[in-house]
Amino acid sequence: MKTLLYMQGLTKEYGKEKAVDNITFSLNKNTSTALIGPNGAGKTTTLSMLAGLLKQTTGSIVMDGEDTKDIRKMIGFLPQYPQFYTWLTALEFTEMVAKLSGVEPKMAKLEAEKTLEFVGLGSAKNKKTGTFSGGMKQRLGLAQAIVHKPALLLLDEPVSALDPIGRREIMNLLKELQANTTILYSTHILNDAEEMTDQLLFLRKGKLVEQGSMREVREKYANPLYKMYFSSSEEAALFVEMSPWPTRQEGPVAFISIEDGKPKMQEVLLKLANSNLSLSKVERATASLEEIFLQVVNKG
Ligand code: ATP
Repeated sequence: MKTLLYMQGLTKEYGKEKAVDNITFSLNKNTSTALIGPNGAGKTTTLSMLAGLLKQTTGSIVMDGEDTKDIRKMIGFLPQYPQFYTWLTALEFTEMVAKLSGVEPKMAKLEAEKTLEFVGLGSAKNKKTGTFSGGMKQRLGLAQAIVHKPALLLLDEPVSALDPIGRREIMNLLKELQANTTILYSTHILNDAEEMTDQLLFLRKGKLVEQGSMREVREKYANPLYKMYFSSSEEAALFVEMSPWPTRQEGPVAFISIEDGKPKMQEVLLKLANSNLSLSKVERATASLEEIFLQVVNKG
């Protein structure tokens, strides 16, 4: 598969803090990749460097054999909080961006119209953007990012402001775009990545802590779990403290992952028998995507 973009040792420092710390990865042509991580993990900083909005402290970004000096026309970017001129209509705004992004001036209006239709804003194209709802703004943000048919589409949390239906719709649009576009988007919700994403990159405190396809990540982390219900959060916390196995807590429930068939329930119960903790229920489950996310970003 052909590589569109490659970055090596990308680092961004703010004083002593490393917002992005020595990350290396590549994006293959016409694939989609999710940058996943909790707040402050470095997702926006990474996307901003790729979009050319921020200069990296060290490291290199190479796109399709070229250095990234004049690649604005090859890139479409949807910022986390897109801003529009409220007094322009969606069509006027998208047409303006099309011209700025290198679409031939006489084609700009037509391309803007086609793009607004594609993102589901065809009937709102003559409305002023200042009247748009959150979901409409997100669609317009996507429209302005793709109107010039960029080879690389960078999207910062494209669905986090949307309800579940809006999320699904935008993810479906991205799936269609992927036929001709390389997509890198950030999210803090692993579930959003499930359907279409080829590659997952997990960031934590600026570092790339895991990467792989959804299948690979599931295989690695979706070990069976015991869910142990205690009478209080304090009891669950005490159990996590005394457990020699990989264990974490959510309220009154402690989760123990079973790696290579270990621990056995018998061992867990023996451990409990020697404590004063009162267990009310045990369930065996497989890690959900949310639990996988927590395991990955909390490891190390
Ligand atoms: P979120 O999900 O909240 O958007 P994120 O993963 O996009 O988070 P970044 O916005 O990239 O994270 O921030 C990474 C780290 O860099 C944070 O600790 C943040 O405080 C720090 N940071 C970002 N921008 C600056 C700046 N201009 N000056 C100083 N520190 C910054």
